[in-house]
Amino acid sequence: MGHAHTTSARSVEDHAVRIDEMITRVWSARPPETVPLTDALGRVTHADIEALIDVPNFRNSQMDGYAVDAESVADVPVTLPVTGVLAAGDAGDERHRSGTARKIMTGAPVPEGADAVIPVEDTEVDGDGVRILGSRRSGEYVREQGSDIAAGSVVVPAGTTLGPRHLGALTAVGRSDVTVRPRLRVAVIATGAELVEAGSALGPGQLYDSNGLTLASSVVADGAVVTFRGRSTDTADEFSAMLSEAAENADVIITSGGVSMGDFEVVRDVLGPRGGTFTHVAMQPGGPQGWTDLDGTPVISFPGNPVSTLVSYLVFARPAIRRLSGLPDAGTTERIADETVRSLPGRRQFLRGRLTETGVVVSSGPGSHLVVSMAAADVLVDVPADTVEVPAGNSVRVWPL
Ligand code: AMP
Ligand code: MG
Repeated sequence: MGHAHTTSARSVEDHAVRIDEMITRVWSARPPETVPLTDALGRVTHADIEALIDVPNFRNSQMDGYAVDAESVADVPVTLPVTGVLAAGDAGDERHRSGTARKIMTGAPVPEGADAVIPVEDTEVDGDGVRILGSRRSGEYVREQGSDIAAGSVVVPAGTTLGPRHLGALTAVGRSDVTVRPRLRVAVIATGAELVEAGSALGPGQLYDSNGLTLASSVVADGAVVTFRGRSTDTADEFSAMLSEAAENADVIITSGGVSMGDFEVVRDVLGPRGGTFTHVAMQPGGPQGWTDLDGTPVISFPGNPVSTLVSYLVFARPAIRRLSGLPDAGTTERIADETVRSLPGRRQFLRGRLTETGVVVSSGPGSHLVVSMAAADVLVDVPADTVEVPAGNSVRVWPL
């Protein structure tokens, strides 16, 4: 174990709290939305939702068989005259007469006066009538109105993430739409004069913009929506115009690149004078970080190295976005270091690791440009700022990627 270094950098925890607050505040100002149930999968209910009708909404048969009154079948075998047949979908408004039977299908209304259904397996055709071989008590194989839920009762409580079973239940109780929490709307802007769109030819000094899709797909995986995606050069005018466009229908803007100490740091240059804070967080990768309240729209600025970008997202943005989306926290766990893990002093390090049967091993070098190597990792290995070595056999905290 090494020693803590004094540093003026902000702690990861402080920065995470700041970003979480910014995201939560704008999201909380959004009103709930009413959406058709057909679009509601994965949405989170805003309030308790009550049944509009009883379910079942009429007394019906649980079996294919014969509707009877239990008294008439107390002593079996007994033969009863059959007065007709009831199918699912029939109105079933004809009253049952004691001592008779009505052929009935599953789901068909049980006529008033009948109080049991004899399954067809327990009967034999007997001329024009039916021979009942097994007796049934009152209520057997009859689904009572409201036995699943009564109108006015709560079907799904507030805060439920709607799955297929909830959508089915809400449909059954007479709903066709539902009021849900808003989804965080996120704009993603990648900056860098060197960036080229996927699929186009690369010129000298150019590379593909991978951060844009990494960030946009992370946002979607965490239950929010991407309302804008842009790629800006390092020109202030272009980036400024893109910010304005992005802010039109986004709650939060995430940028990548342009926040370090170089000559062409467009994000810092444009947002610094507009109230942005650009600082160093005591972590590696992902040290340079920025945040701005851009006329009410939070802009969260990550450094451009692809590993730094993703680590920044996972550490600072994912927890809040998942919570607001109603998704469970991605969660960290403790694993045994199969091999000794080495780290720099003074900064919390997030190394890329691969899970093994017994624990975890560090899987790629420290370079924050190693975008492809990162794809082979399963987790981030989180080494505290004051730790320079985790000996093999000790445990380390890991974050899922
Ligand atoms: P920056 O933070 O703008 O100084 O960028 C740091 C490094 O990350 C540079 O090598 C960039 O080329 C690279 N980089 C920046 N943005 C992206 C991006 N969107 N996709 C891939 N690499 C990027
Ligand atoms: Mg750049």
